[in-house]
Amino acid sequence: MDEHWDNLDALRAPLLAWYDAHRRVLPWREEPSPYRTWVSEIMLQQTRVGAVLAYYARFLAELPDARALAAVSEERLYKLWQGLGYYSRAKNLHRAAQVVVSEYGGELPRTMDALRALPGVGDYTASAIASINYGLPEPAVDGNLLRVASRVCGCAEDVTDARTRRRFREHMAASIDRARPGAWNQAMMDLGATVCLPNGAPLCAECPARAFCTAYREGLTGVLPVRAPKKKRRAEERTVFLLLRGGKVAVRRRGDTGLLARLTEFPNAAGSLDEPSALVTLAQWGVKPTSLTPCGTAKHIFTHIEWQMKGYVAEVTGDNAEFQWVDATEFEQLAIPTAFKKYAAQAKNLLNIPPPNKG
Ligand code: SF4
Repeated sequence: MDEHWDNLDALRAPLLAWYDAHRRVLPWREEPSPYRTWVSEIMLQQTRVGAVLAYYARFLAELPDARALAAVSEERLYKLWQGLGYYSRAKNLHRAAQVVVSEYGGELPRTMDALRALPGVGDYTASAIASINYGLPEPAVDGNLLRVASRVCGCAEDVTDARTRRRFREHMAASIDRARPGAWNQAMMDLGATVCLPNGAPLCAECPARAFCTAYREGLTGVLPVRAPKKKRRAEERTVFLLLRGGKVAVRRRGDTGLLARLTEFPNAAGSLDEPSALVTLAQWGVKPTSLTPCGTAKHIFTHIEWQMKGYVAEVTGDNAEFQWVDATEFEQLAIPTAFKKYAAQAKNLLNIPPPNKG
């Protein structure tokens, strides 16, 4: 298949006209600022727009600028982030805000290199901030842009490959609208999210690129973009314990590195432990159960790992130096990761915390 990269030039004017008529109204777009673009783009990584809206509003209401974000406690930040998952994003936001305050007086830097040097800010986020707020002609290349460009230009290279992405970025940098680079990026994002849909189901009849789109003309919308098959996720079995002592439940802090680093969790151990093995684990931790009851299984999918969990509830005596025993009030202040959602709900029951009022 021939590639037609000049189709990106042909797309520029109709794309912006389409954007002006059909753009999505989103809170971070209405009064854009580098901070708002940054926070929204970090939240939108791995999360759908619809799911981000409420989190974004709550986050901005409490942390309206980099200074407030830099000063917030880790625990409070994780509470605001709870439910969005992928907590490393929140950790990096926090660290980056502290750099922004200490090195840039609380305002995000204005160059691509300085933006990219902030924790958690890669090419994509730096380009979004720089194009939308500083007018720099930097394409924000994410899955949406790769899909649109590979279809419009008829490129059959694997878009998950870093070299291919660099090639796409160079072509897009040459074709981005220099007067309105932020609008061009957001138009491409919107076109990918609302018209040039994935999985071979684009709405070509509504698309401003239809007159010259290679995939549409050659019937290749089900083939492009080309993606190498994903590696299979590794399954990991874990056993989670809801340990109760004197009306309190045990939690502990995860280690400084790795999955869910530094977050609060219920004590848990590797493997799917039967009751005798569970008793051995409790003995190793230094606690002695007066009861041990299975409390169901749960599954949580991370990017590369899938946790397959089973749980036990145990009334215990004894203690472990890593455990913190929390009552209902303290438990409500914690940001337990979504991976433990099922067990957190059971812990609330056990602590007599009423379910949230949905009315
Ligand atoms: S014409 Fe169809 S395949 Fe081509 S960019 Fe538009 S929606 Fe995507």
